[in-house]
Amino acid sequence: NASSVSLADAAYVKISEGDFGYVLDDVPHLIDHLPDAPTYPNPLQDHPAYSTVKQYFVNEDDTVPQKVVVQKSSRRGVHFRRAGPRQRVYFESDEVKACIVTCGGLCPGLNTVIRELVCGLAHMYNVNKIYGIQNGYKGFYSSNYLSLTPKSVDDIHKRGGTVLGTSRGGHDTKKIVDNIQDRGINQVYIIGGDGTQKGAYEIFKEIRKRGLKVSVAGVPKTIDNDIAIIDKSFGFDTAVEEAQRAIDSAHVEACSAENGIGLVKLMGRYSGFIAMYATLASRDVDCCLIPESPFYMDGEGGLLQYIEKRLKDNKHMVIVVAEGAGQDLIAKSLSTSEQQDASGNKLLLDIGLWLTHKIKDHFKSKKMEMTIKYIDPTYMIRAIPSNASDNVYCTLLAHSAIHGAMAGYSFTVGNVNGRHAYIPFYRVTSTRNKVKITDRMWARLLSSTNQPSFLSQKDIDEAKETDRMANKPPLPSGLSHHAAN
Ligand code: ATP
Ligand code: MG
Repeated sequence: NASSVSLADAAYVKISEGDFGYVLDDVPHLIDHLPDAPTYPNPLQDHPAYSTVKQYFVNEDDTVPQKVVVQKSSRRGVHFRRAGPRQRVYFESDEVKACIVTCGGLCPGLNTVIRELVCGLAHMYNVNKIYGIQNGYKGFYSSNYLSLTPKSVDDIHKRGGTVLGTSRGGHDTKKIVDNIQDRGINQVYIIGGDGTQKGAYEIFKEIRKRGLKVSVAGVPKTIDNDIAIIDKSFGFDTAVEEAQRAIDSAHVEACSAENGIGLVKLMGRYSGFIAMYATLASRDVDCCLIPESPFYMDGEGGLLQYIEKRLKDNKHMVIVVAEGAGQDLIAKSLSTSEQQDASGNKLLLDIGLWLTHKIKDHFKSKKMEMTIKYIDPTYMIRAIPSNASDNVYCTLLAHSAIHGAMAGYSFTVGNVNGRHAYIPFYRVTSTRNKVKITDRMWARLLSSTNQPSFLSQKDIDEAKETDRMANKPPLPSGLSHHAAN
């Protein structure tokens, strides 16, 4: 049973050999801890605000399960260490030298996380050496470090963007760690997306290789909500809310013209969560296109036929498209070669513009009157400040990151099934969270828009097989390798 699992050494445990063969149970995915046990009492125990909390400190061996619903025949799965303040901390407050960096694209809430890291370190742990790294990873070795205080970050959460600046590319592990070492930094807080977390893992490995006593804490940022394991990334709620405004405008435009079409492009390079949730929330959308669900334009059951039908029935329609949808269609029709940004990400072709032309050409050839208005709010959405619920979420993420770093852990922090947990870096970067088109949520969307699924039986079978493989338990040998990490 679970309580008999020693988290310190268990890679995986066979709990029973019942009707279903071996059942793997309670696989703790341990995050890295600095050598030696934390020795200093946590200064929070004397903090007036926290002294009234009945059980403020979490138990060292508490874990959070990745799967909540468990079928009888399947293993109970992976657990992560629960986030929260520890009785003992690894660093004394006045020896802490912390730095914060933001990398990758903008996302609502970045400034809130920065603010709460600074204020949390200062107010909870009396840390006063906190530095901001400017303009992403390259700022570690090419710019001055900014001194951050609760006063200097007091109202930054009301602004969009990141006060530290951000960039793509420029991740030079050796130069970055040289600077961390030279400046005596011992806590590194890294806010950014999948690329950034991969970079954080490289920094962490180099730090361990050199035997430095430095904690590395990642706070995952992705407006697309595509980071694996975690329930939801900060900024996502804000993005969906702001996307509504664009959809509303598209609806007004569409309703005000004869055979009006409003087309809105939303974020979602590989995962269509924003498009899906904005569509479900709005109720004005007649068709939602996402990267996970392939579609086609011409012929029976194609997009153009559906648009024609919708205009005949309803006189107007709204289409939402995620930026990563239909890339194969554009590439084929324009026969362009792939291009990359400074971080090595594939540059996307503009699906919104392409669809606009395709739809216009189609109705011109049919001699059917229609008007299409294309709205691209993506950069506007990324740049706004976070809403109330994201602000609270950012605060909790920042606090969890601080507690973990103070205790000597290196990890990515995130909500797993509603509980904050410390997740090993490689677990959040090895896969991507995607909309499952075989799931109930996508079925709800299809039934709310009435759009065709565009899928052949072969597509559906392939999607189910992909899901089945994704749910397969990893091999025990693989598990023990990772769990030891
Ligand atoms: P988003 O895609 O949401 O905008 P991101 O963090 O994925 O955010 P990227 O531009 O891909 O954005 O990466 C951010 C930073 O991480 C860049 O400075 C880049 O050099 C670095 N980086 C990306 N991938 C890796 C990697 N595999 N190893 C080391 N560093 C990386
Ligand atoms: Mg990315």
